[in-house]
Amino acid sequence: MDELISIEKLKEAFQKLPSVGAKSAERMAYAVLKMDTKTVNNFADALKEVKEKIHPCPICGLYTEAPTCSVCSSTTRDHSLLIVISQPLDYQSFEKIDNFNGVYHVLGGSISASSGIGINDLNVNSLFARIDNEGIKEIIIATNPTIEGETTALYLAKLLEPYPTKVTRLAYGLPMGGHLGYADAVTLEKSIKGRTSMKGEDE
Ligand SMILES: [Zn+2]
Repeated sequence: MDELISIEKLKEAFQKLPSVGAKSAERMAYAVLKMDTKTVNNFADALKEVKEKIHPCPICGLYTEAPTCSVCSSTTRDHSLLIVISQPLDYQSFEKIDNFNGVYHVLGGSISASSGIGINDLNVNSLFARIDNEGIKEIIIATNPTIEGETTALYLAKLLEPYPTKVTRLAYGLPMGGHLGYADAVTLEKSIKGRTSMKGEDE
């Protein structure tokens, strides 16, 4: 049988997606081959468009197609209450909670010794600038309940000590090693209500 170089290339491309192994990638590649040309073109255009149109919000780091995201540009949100999250999509969990109306800040990862990620690799300097610029009164650190997430939270709380803002951490009803994305809205609402101070001085 002929060597189908273009199918091999497409398989390789699909394997770059999360949870896609060699077998799935092959099925996907042959599924594309069976599609009509218009569908394939739409598919290709959609792939290019996400990269061309979507960028991180320059203020908070959430994904947006606008100059700034809808959370940062909202006039009805409480801009004095800020939740620090590791990844852009973590905000979705908090948006499911009815009475949360604050804003976000995306760190872009967690401190990880094994991956060589330090605090300076995270989006922290812009957070410090926001405390003054936006009059932030409370920062809730909502990194994941993992070793990396805990390390990041402790380090960040230490860096925030000189600032006048209150610093709290979610009280998790979740086992260590879990991920925020799997928390249901009720658990998450409880963890916000039960949040604990990470600063010794304010009670
Ligand atoms: Zn934003």
